[in-house]
Amino acid sequence: MKLGGIPRRSADQLAAMRRAGRVVAEMHERTRAALRPGITTAELDRIGRQVLSRRGATSNFLGVNGTYPAVICASPNEVVVHGIPGDRVLADGDIISVDCGAIVDGWHGDAAYTAGVGTISAGAQRLIKVTERSLDAAIATMVPGGHLGDIGHAVQTVVEGAGLCVVDGYTGHGIGQAMHEAPAVPNVGESGRGPRLRAGNVLAVEPMVAVGTPETDVLDDDWTVVTLDGTWAAHAEHTIAVTDAGPEILTRV
Ligand code: MG
Ligand code: MG
Repeated sequence: MKLGGIPRRSADQLAAMRRAGRVVAEMHERTRAALRPGITTAELDRIGRQVLSRRGATSNFLGVNGTYPAVICASPNEVVVHGIPGDRVLADGDIISVDCGAIVDGWHGDAAYTAGVGTISAGAQRLIKVTERSLDAAIATMVPGGHLGDIGHAVQTVVEGAGLCVVDGYTGHGIGQAMHEAPAVPNVGESGRGPRLRAGNVLAVEPMVAVGTPETDVLDDDWTVVTLDGTWAAHAEHTIAVTDAGPEILTRV
């Protein structure tokens, strides 16, 4: 690691992060397969716990800030991020963002997806697709010699080009031996600005996209982030390594 730059992970460290990422990918796969009208968000959390325990991994969500009670965040419809799993029953036509992470051998993975429950509206499908496309565009910029600002610029260009908005006030982050490390990875920005990316950098990139307003509010549970106007939002995230062979998505099998 060079002073002042984004930390560079060794081959061994990347291998451990790849193992953590694979567990996160399996949590995604299993929760996604379980999505159906009638399931509760607490059941999704239970599935996440089963994967962690089967893989001998631990949760980097449980106990965050001393209070977070679950291994996933489950954020339906107007909830942007940080929804706490509970007795909420998902209904046909809902969308749900599932965000989760894992620790393996001290190294972290973190990723999120948004999916529909049953049959969803064309507008909801488009919201999810645009969010995924913005993440793909951001990942494509993550090559040695690129800049941190290229990532946010790519997200912003796709989202605003589709007439949607980037949620204010929340960013991606560096990730390694803690889930949240420097630098912040904004979802807006100017290309060519910010620190240079180098092989071995690992970042969690996570566009949060809303239909209506970029403004949010936090509910009385001090966690749940909702859009201020109640319109729906989507979230997609991967943990990505910058390598000489191009971006490597660690949280995808
Ligand atoms: Mg994250
Ligand atoms: Mg996450």
